[in-house]
Amino acid sequence: MSGRPPARDEIAGWVAYLREIGVRELRVVAAAAGPGAAARGPAPARGASVAPPVAPAPARPSLGIGAAPDDAFPDPPPADPAARLADLRAEIGDCTRCKLHGGRTKLVFGVGDPRARLMFVGEGPGAEEDARGEPFVGRAGRKLDQMIASIGLRREDVYIANVVKCRPPNNRDPEPDEIATCSPFLVRQIEAIRPRVIVTLGAPAARTLLGTKTGITRLRGTWQSFRGIPVMPTYHPAYLLRAYTLENRRKVYEDLLAARERLGPR
Ligand code: URA
Repeated sequence: MSGRPPARDEIAGWVAYLREIGVRELRVVAAAAGPGAAARGPAPARGASVAPPVAPAPARPSLGIGAAPDDAFPDPPPADPAARLADLRAEIGDCTRCKLHGGRTKLVFGVGDPRARLMFVGEGPGAEEDARGEPFVGRAGRKLDQMIASIGLRREDVYIANVVKCRPPNNRDPEPDEIATCSPFLVRQIEAIRPRVIVTLGAPAARTLLGTKTGITRLRGTWQSFRGIPVMPTYHPAYLLRAYTLENRRKVYEDLLAARERLGPR
């Protein structure tokens, strides 16, 4: 993640978002010295949540890659995560492993910093993502960009991927066979990047990584774990756009702040 001071328009973006979700007051804290301090963004609003410890992992089925989902990755992080991701993309190739390939224009692999400390996981590409080959570039993507900016980061500071890499028809939820076929690639992206924190967006992403059937309303805002990496489930930005209440916007902001705090100092 970049250590450069935030630009004026980035600060204006945070402030606009915070105002939108009803935040009227910011605590000012002395900036810690050292590189990266400025990129840590605004101080959390008063009353913002402090991350509780990671919840014990519930019993859950394996993702089908030969390890229980909560076993920490055995190997150290790869020395060159960008090369690992490039190899993985090459291995996926012009994929025909599941039925989603029939309706796709472009496969949507993932985007962002291969050494990102924070990773977002959505469910699957929509129409604009399918056309451009990049995750979260439509309306929900613009909302996600705002959410990222609200915690003092930029899209290029994080990594963004989906559970399935091809667009489900009519934006339906991905089906179990599609998730089973594609999610091992997501796991390998996580294994390459080794983020410090993962934020899942919406129910399918949380259910896939956590192997739970618990609804997103109960899951969101509670620390979970995937292969030893803390996971914060939150609402999908598309849901936020549909149910644009102050309460929902605040909940998402609190989830993101908790994730931001969990990243710790660089
Ligand atoms: N919704 C998702 O879950 N992922 C995208 O890439 C776009 C919209």
